[in-house]
Amino acid sequence: MCGVKETQCTHCNHLQVCSFKAQFLAAQKAIDEVTVGTGDRSFINLRDISWIRPVSLECSYFSGKMPIMRDVAQSAASAAEQASALRFMEDPT
Ligand code: SF4
Repeated sequence: MCGVKETQCTHCNHLQVCSFKAQFLAAQKAIDEVTVGTGDRSFINLRDISWIRPVSLECSYFSGKMPIMRDVAQSAASAAEQASALRFMEDPT
């Protein structure tokens, strides 16, 4: 497995000030590293069993970030400016 795994902390309002974050991430890491005996004296990582969905812990204190409202009028003006610039580049006459 590679890359950075997102947790609830990634999308939580408390992320910058939370005193539970380190413990929560450590608990999720412990879950990610669980191994299961296969019965023949070998072990397999729980996350590598294809027919079991990955376990993502849920924090009781999670507070989801609200989507940021964009200024629709400003976005429309910006899009019109970009379209105008592109038209000029295609036909500079
Ligand atoms: S409150 Fe929970 S989800 Fe939010 S940052 Fe803290 S540990 Fe993470």
